[in-house]
Amino acid sequence: MDFVFVGGNLALDFAGTLKWRRTHPEELLRTPGDLARWSVEAGVLTREPSLDGEDLRTLLGLREAVYRLVAAALDGRPWPGEDLGVLNRAASAAPPRLTLGPGGLARDGGAAEIGAEVARSAATLLAGMSPAAASATVSVRVRECARPECTRLFVDRSRGGTRHWCGMEECGNRVKAANYRYRKKG
Ligand SMILES: [Zn+2]
Repeated sequence: MDFVFVGGNLALDFAGTLKWRRTHPEELLRTPGDLARWSVEAGVLTREPSLDGEDLRTLLGLREAVYRLVAAALDGRPWPGEDLGVLNRAASAAPPRLTLGPGGLARDGGAAEIGAEVARSAATLLAGMSPAAASATVSVRVRECARPECTRLFVDRSRGGTRHWCGMEECGNRVKAANYRYRKKG
């Protein structure tokens, strides 16, 4: 299973490990080992931690809280209090331990450190897209992929705010090809 990192934000990429949420959800983090591998591929840790089923459940709970908080902000709804609690608890833990050595920078930790890193990333992002900030100047533009069934979220950093797809390969090209075929037929 390949993980993708197209969200421009760690927490959004984490939320994206459950794909096609509205139509046919596909879980990429099925085992504690999947989560350990994600944490390294995402650059949170440099060595795969040993995680158990409880760690997986806790971090998937955080992932879903993050998704609901971002969805609420996108819809202009207030943040669900329970999800805020989950996020803030995770964010209060210490982030990964950094050790600089001849081989480079090591980032060590386990479930709590992964959760802290994801939660801090989510909290920083959400602060910029809070319902209060939305009316004034929205500093962060978060979007959902324009392919109808794709539920990946990303930070649109394009100058004119014109990014539509989570990634051209998986969604953009496919939708464009479908439109092209449609036009040719029509
Ligand atoms: Zn997409």
